[in-house]
Amino acid sequence: MDYLPLFYKVKNRQVLLVGGGKVALRKANFLLRAQAKIKLVAIEVCAELEELLADKKHEVSSRAFQNGDINEASLIVAATNNIELNKQIADAAAKLNIPVNVVDQPELCSFIFPSIVDRSPLIVAVSSSGKSPVLARLLRSRLETFIPSGYGTLSVFLGDFRNKVKSKINSLSARMRFWEKVINGPAAELLLAGKPEQAETIVESMLSDFDEKELSQGEVYLVGAGPGDPDLLTFRALRLMQQADVVLYDRLVSQEILYMTRQDADKIHVGKQREKHTMEQGEISSLLVKLAKSGKRVLRLKGGDPFIFGRGGEEIEQLAEANIPFQVVPGITAASGCSSYAGIPLTHRDYAQSVTFVTGHMKNNQCDLNWSHLVQEGQTVVIYMGLIGLPYICEQLIIHGRPGDTPIALIQKGTTPQQKIYIGTLDTLPEIIREKDVQAPTLIIVGEVVALHEKLSW
Ligand code: SAH
Repeated sequence: MDYLPLFYKVKNRQVLLVGGGKVALRKANFLLRAQAKIKLVAIEVCAELEELLADKKHEVSSRAFQNGDINEASLIVAATNNIELNKQIADAAAKLNIPVNVVDQPELCSFIFPSIVDRSPLIVAVSSSGKSPVLARLLRSRLETFIPSGYGTLSVFLGDFRNKVKSKINSLSARMRFWEKVINGPAAELLLAGKPEQAETIVESMLSDFDEKELSQGEVYLVGAGPGDPDLLTFRALRLMQQADVVLYDRLVSQEILYMTRQDADKIHVGKQREKHTMEQGEISSLLVKLAKSGKRVLRLKGGDPFIFGRGGEEIEQLAEANIPFQVVPGITAASGCSSYAGIPLTHRDYAQSVTFVTGHMKNNQCDLNWSHLVQEGQTVVIYMGLIGLPYICEQLIIHGRPGDTPIALIQKGTTPQQKIYIGTLDTLPEIIREKDVQAPTLIIVGEVVALHEKLSW
């Protein structure tokens, strides 16, 4: 991030605004919404500004800016069309470390104004870090349409209960769950429907019935994060990602996806890299049990689909034995993601009537697969974890009867911006990639359907 997003209190504090035209007027209006005390300095002040700042609380000086003007300011906005003057103001502000915004000169700004959705006290701010204010504004208008207008009132309502809830429910995570129940339940609906008394009665009774102990049992969400592109997450995955208190993730889960989990959740990397398991499988399962028993909502986030070469089954076995509630959320497995993004349909009426997923993981320099099955005609074979074993796999397929000119694709980091596709045949692919800097994870697709890539890649 190039900027730290924050909400700054200017209520009854002095904000210096330099400039007396239409732009300054717009900024003054914005600052007044946050109840700032404005000191305006400009040689010429337009009538609307004079009128807007007529209250004694503000100060309007019709004269040239002097460096001393900034001394009392908690924030400075330069809205003049004089480039030199703007620079002078920005320099003076920098000397005293006072945040400054110079309209339309991002290089002189130490802060920028976001586009906002105002449901005060609820405020959503959007910024493109100055790159494209239009994009931020468009996004803002979309947000505008799905944040109900009553959310301001809802925030005030919830705020009024805050201390009471805090004194009744001790643990932070229990309090969070209480609030989620209120917000997702009938109390919030009634409030939005304009029935505050009924909403209040419901919250009061929820609070008196609330049993903190009931929540001492946590739960586990075993969630598939898909092959890499965050757009391929499911709605449910996203919802649980936003809700979990702790996240256990593997190497295959990208940073981008990790950023979509709850910001204040504890994040634990449990590894899973060839030969470098950061945590043993048994340790992961025990940790899941321990965390859930301490009342946490635990997200076990795995690449692709948790039940396809993900050891998802093993991880939840212990949970089931310990009677810990859990749910499993499927994800898009690498075979689906990579084949779609590479334009290689896994089945096709003319070329492949079945598809088989296998692991090419090598043990003692070989991998034990049912080769006679894999060489059957009319079949696509997808090989996970097959990069190291690729020469061996191609050789075995040929030995067992698949023609050497069968097309084969190797897809590196499928669905991500680093996706790369290598195409060859069983005879040629090992040679083609030998000199290339191929990076894991990679997926291998064998079969006639690979030839369609040329026509269907997008
Ligand atoms: N549960 C995962 C698979 C885990 S095994 C799933 O359903 O996708 C790890 C293997 O998955 C890697 O060795 C690689 O073969 C494959 N894989 C996962 N993500 C991939 C990606 N983005 N591109 C290519 N292969 C990928």
